[in-house]
Amino acid sequence: MPNRIGHQSENQMNCLFVVPPIYDFSAFDLWAKPYGFLSLIKMFRENGAGIFFFDFLERTGPLYSKTHEKQFGTGKYFATEVEKPPAYINVPKKYKRFGLPVEEFLEYIDKIPAPDCVFVTSGMTYWYPGVVEVLQTVRNRFPRAMIFVGGVYATLCAKHALKLPADFVFCGRDLEEFAGRFQTISGMPLRCTSGIEPDWSVYQKLSYLCVRTSTGCPFSCDYCASGLMSPHFVQRSPEQVAQEIITNADNFNVRDIVFYDDALMVNFDNHLDRIIRLLDGRKFQFHTPNGIHPRFITEKTAQVLADAGFKTIRLSFEGSDAVVSKASHLKVSMKNLENALRNLQHAGIDIKDIGIYILAGLPGQSPEDVRKTIRLLLSFGAPIKLAEYSPIPGTRLFNEVMKFMPYTDWEEPLNHNNSIFPCWDIPGKWEIINELKAELKTQV
Ligand code: SF4
Repeated sequence: MPNRIGHQSENQMNCLFVVPPIYDFSAFDLWAKPYGFLSLIKMFRENGAGIFFFDFLERTGPLYSKTHEKQFGTGKYFATEVEKPPAYINVPKKYKRFGLPVEEFLEYIDKIPAPDCVFVTSGMTYWYPGVVEVLQTVRNRFPRAMIFVGGVYATLCAKHALKLPADFVFCGRDLEEFAGRFQTISGMPLRCTSGIEPDWSVYQKLSYLCVRTSTGCPFSCDYCASGLMSPHFVQRSPEQVAQEIITNADNFNVRDIVFYDDALMVNFDNHLDRIIRLLDGRKFQFHTPNGIHPRFITEKTAQVLADAGFKTIRLSFEGSDAVVSKASHLKVSMKNLENALRNLQHAGIDIKDIGIYILAGLPGQSPEDVRKTIRLLLSFGAPIKLAEYSPIPGTRLFNEVMKFMPYTDWEEPLNHNNSIFPCWDIPGKWEIINELKAELKTQV
């Protein structure tokens, strides 16, 4: 059992930070850590606050065994089947709660001093039932604490989040703005000193390390929330990023480094290439679960990635149909993709370690459109990954979704779940989706 007791502050405020469990049809720890939340924790620690932390998604403790561990530090979450909410009653899949049981959380909060403030982060909009579970628990146990909720769901569905049992909802990732608002609300001084570096010390053990070398994205795709979370594209100093990787990889003895960037390859020579050179030949395995624009994979950049030890590379192709082409700002041609794949293979990267993302489930896009894209790509030999579309409030495409399906309650975040293909209201929907997925399995 991990030692989760934090550090009490003698003369300052005590703060409890909580990462909620996930409620969904499926969930897998594909290098998921609350990077922005850890930066917030760092800011409070630097201001002398007592820090207490509980991550329901930490894959540690007696419930986890070797069978939960998968390649490159990824792994399965402990899960229990739960009753479906009415919105999902006709979905032919099991609905589950992923993460540590609430009893472990209760045991933890019984041992810590009553916090002055509780901070609850959030992920996908349709995962909010996990946020509700945590808010109800802490509200009951600590009735005098000020409770804040932030993160992706709180930012994108602020109106919905305001109805939850939290005192304050914070939108966005701007720590300076947060510090200002926190002071006004609480009357407690809070200086923003730490940039976006996360505080990994709240974990006893890590199987991988995540890093965000930039915030935002210079592109602006109609379906994407990147600009809503971080309106400006800003790259961090390569020296600072390299130092963050070296220090934390040494502290936790990890080799798998995961980039969280939305636009990792932009300004390659002065940014990613420089970061890699500053790592001084240390042997890491790098992963880019977010798609890279194929246009950035030249002969030279492909060789740098291969030599540095990139093991997981995802290319954003999105799709060949008119609906995707209109919504995507990337405008990736088949030629761009072919060149990128050739350059990566020529540099020594195994085609099986490259994934090609295609979008499925957009409003107006048909399953036949997706099938055609799959068939076009099959001959390349790289695994094709379906990126199932989730309508995100505040994006340009969300407005079209509301017009396209006016009878759906889009203010209910459960209806944004990509697993239910919410914008495909077609006869025989689940058979068709299963057929598409079966086509992907025909890849050798
Ligand atoms: S989909 Fe990717 S490229 Fe497009 S705006 Fe979002 S992060 Fe940027």
